[in-house]
Amino acid sequence: MQALSASITGRAIREEKIAVEAVDIRDFTEDKHRHVDDYTYGGGAGMLMQAQPVFAAYESVAARLEKKPRVVYLTPQGVPFTQDLARDFSECGELVLICGHYEGIDERVLEEIVTDRVSIGDYVLTGGELAAMVVVDAVSRLVPGVLHNDESAQDESFAGGLLEYPQYTRPESWHGKEVPEILLSGNHKKIEEWRLKQAEERTRKFRPDLYEKYEANNQ
Ligand code: SAM
Repeated sequence: MQALSASITGRAIREEKIAVEAVDIRDFTEDKHRHVDDYTYGGGAGMLMQAQPVFAAYESVAARLEKKPRVVYLTPQGVPFTQDLARDFSECGELVLICGHYEGIDERVLEEIVTDRVSIGDYVLTGGELAAMVVVDAVSRLVPGVLHNDESAQDESFAGGLLEYPQYTRPESWHGKEVPEILLSGNHKKIEEWRLKQAEERTRKFRPDLYEKYEANNQ
């Protein structure tokens, strides 16, 4: 949570463009020792988060929102988190993110409350918090008003299915490398054409999977 108070997300929170609240599932357990996990049926290593505290925490949030919110379970088994999904989430008003721990969460509560299962990559983290922070960061910068005019998300990587073109700032010459001349020309049409070509080239080079889709959509 503290990491979100820095930089653009921090500014957005202070300006009340977004609000982020952490809910501690432990506060909702009926267990007298405040346990929220137990052994898995069928055996195997590791503990599993129980359905009861997760469901009670969800119910308390839903009651406050006075609606059934969209509920995202962060899991390596989910669909890959993409810029398109971030845009979709940025338009839905409220979003509940569920972070698992240990071996994950009892499947029965997930079946009842989860609307989306999302993974931030093909690797396994110890808990869902870092994944949730990634989602909060990527989603909040797409909420209208969060980015200021000079921080537009419009031309960025993944907009239009391409990675962004290379960019340069002062000085014009650095370590014997010059800024491409076209960028100093003031010819906006030519600059746009150059940028598109660069974006296509680097997408083909670095992300052939994305480029294939881009080509198919632009035939
Ligand atoms: N036993 C689970 C499995 O094999 O699918 C992995 C559980 S992981 C150790 C614990 C928690 O970390 C998960 O419940 C999930 O919330 C989070 N997590 C781990 N990797 C993740 C990823 N790639 N994307 C999103 N969340 C992840």
